[in-house]
Amino acid sequence: MLTGAGISAESGVKTFRDGGGLWEEHRIEDVATPEGFARDPRMVWRFYSERRKQAAGVRPNPAHLALAQLEQRIGDRLFLCTQNVDPLHERAGSRAVHHMHGELFRTRCESCDRPAFEEDRLHFEQVPRCEGCGGRLRPNVVWFGEIPFGMERIYQALEDCDLFVTVGSSGAVHPAAGFVSHLRQTRGGLVRCVYVGLERPENAYAFDECRLGKAGELLPTLFDVETGTP
Ligand code: NAD
Repeated sequence: MLTGAGISAESGVKTFRDGGGLWEEHRIEDVATPEGFARDPRMVWRFYSERRKQAAGVRPNPAHLALAQLEQRIGDRLFLCTQNVDPLHERAGSRAVHHMHGELFRTRCESCDRPAFEEDRLHFEQVPRCEGCGGRLRPNVVWFGEIPFGMERIYQALEDCDLFVTVGSSGAVHPAAGFVSHLRQTRGGLVRCVYVGLERPENAYAFDECRLGKAGELLPTLFDVETGTP
């Protein structure tokens, strides 16, 4: 199961697509690349502080809740991988969530190997510094040009799955957008691939089926809760 920004749209969190390629009125290059952070770290921290502030007040919608229920039914047969940095899957009750693009409420040091840590503080004025080494802290999110977290685990899950469902992802952001074609090439007809979202994604050709509509309306009725199949 791969979720994208579209699953959080009905909770009031904007997707990239909503903004015509902008993220909350910001250019992706400015707020979601290592180069943008190198150029203006204060502005980047202001952006993520704003996202933290916004995320503090949002609630999971029926799509997040349906996936939490599915996990309760089928346990670790569900591998839930999200491209989202928001915490809405966890707030819905999902316990095992793989955040391939990191998490909004985690921070890490750029300079030392102190592990990433949970943080809900807002940094509007100053770029925070590491208590250990004094180095610059950064949001623990994956920016364009960086390698997503836990790719080995993801490819293992692709290797093992017999059903692959993507929810609310435009199919434009790689490597996630390539998972479905990878399955086609490596596992042929062994895996059923289903897309759920408002419109056909850019990689629609690689899915067996696209179910078009709002995630919050489609997901609660999509799965047979006993078996986990749509
Ligand atoms: P995207 O913004 O490129 O595309 C969102 C997709 O969701 C679109 O195809 C749209 O048709 C669909 N959609 C919109 N509303 C929907 C609804 N109610 N139900 C179902 N589908 C709906 O998103 P992406 O492919 O996930 O790529 C965006 C990247 O931006 C990700 O890497 C992510 O890390 C980051 N991002 C994250 C958040 C978040 O954490 N919530 C928000 C914006 C961007």
